[in-house]
Amino acid sequence: MVERMILHGKKISFERSGKAFGAETADALEEALCRSCPFFAYDCDFAVNKEAPPCGGYLLIGQLLESRTVSLDDLGDMD
Ligand code: SF4
Repeated sequence: MVERMILHGKKISFERSGKAFGAETADALEEALCRSCPFFAYDCDFAVNKEAPPCGGYLLIGQLLESRTVSLDDLGDMD
């Protein structure tokens, strides 16, 4: 997804914001990203315990959502 966005000219910031995601972003990430992730069922500590750190993809896409660089519609197009 990120590669496709860069190829289409979107500016992507890889700087960490340090802020926790809002509930709407966290819910969107769980629905659009985690539920289709091959690690969700067995191998992701974060899927079991939200106190564990999520993966880098979750953090990056969460920051892109929070900064409105991508939208929920963009996540729906992640095939
Ligand atoms: S946090 Fe990352 S590794 Fe874990 S289920 Fe979500 S997308 Fe997959």
